[in-house]
Amino acid sequence: MEMTAEVENTGTRPREVRPLHGPPRGTWPQVATYIFILGPFIALLAAVPLTWGWGLGWLDIALAAFFYTATCLGVTVGFHRYFTHRAFKATRSLRVGLAIAGSMALQGPITHWVADHRRHHAFSDRDGDPHSPWAFGSSPVALVKGFWHAHMGWVFDRNLTNAERFAPDLLADRDIVRVHRQFGLWTAVTLIAPAVLGGLISWSLWGAVTAFFWAGLVRVSFLHHVTWSVNSICHMIGSRPFAARDRSANFWPLAILSMGESWHNLHHADPTCARHGVKRGQIDISARLIWFLEKFGWATDVRWPTPKRLANLEKRASA
Ligand SMILES: [Zn+2]
Ligand SMILES: [Zn+2]
Repeated sequence: MEMTAEVENTGTRPREVRPLHGPPRGTWPQVATYIFILGPFIALLAAVPLTWGWGLGWLDIALAAFFYTATCLGVTVGFHRYFTHRAFKATRSLRVGLAIAGSMALQGPITHWVADHRRHHAFSDRDGDPHSPWAFGSSPVALVKGFWHAHMGWVFDRNLTNAERFAPDLLADRDIVRVHRQFGLWTAVTLIAPAVLGGLISWSLWGAVTAFFWAGLVRVSFLHHVTWSVNSICHMIGSRPFAARDRSANFWPLAILSMGESWHNLHHADPTCARHGVKRGQIDISARLIWFLEKFGWATDVRWPTPKRLANLEKRASA
């Protein structure tokens, strides 16, 4: 659905805004999207029966855990809380480091990711949201279709979100544009680095092969599905203690794997907040990393939640 003539109301005077979509994704980037989404996915499916008895050693598990943690935090702390929502300010080297770590999750180049996600918040669960599970209605059939679309179908949409409209700040930053253009390089690094490390540490070619499979392909796809679950499951199932304008929900079973992102109801109620798991016992590993970054002086002006603000959001939810 194209919304080129759309007008956003910005107060007293309506203002013409840039179109929702930019130029469509080219043929080769589209082919690459299929390869680098479906390739790791096939490996993940194959991993289920292969877990027992096919080359999964402690080194593979350690490398997979390391790359999973680094790239997941690159997305949650970097792409999401910092670049999309500006929950804190960062030094230049932290800014570039987070952009690279997030790129290595293979969830698309940084400006595409941020533009899509800002659009998600602007239109959450309404027309224009790139990945709402409610896009086709709320009958059982529509929800199955919506779940698939919100989870992974939308990734293949060639109508890219217009970054000039949704992420002009990133397009104006030379370092970030460079990391964006280097996406092919970071794709290669994230897949090859585990193989090189696995080969060197085990000093065997077989060690490189199994590390490539487990800590490269399987790890990439596993994180894809955890991230996409925030878009699909966390807009369908869970609790809604805070006032948000959409169907976002807190879904506790994913709190650790998503590193705090599944406290998604609070996030939509207060998008710039640096901590999503705000209640007692709500583990939020990403917020803990931001806390460390602040202690080191690399992150400043962190938007931590205040009791008063949270009480207001809860009050509005129950009203
Ligand atoms: Zn959401
Ligand atoms: Zn967000």
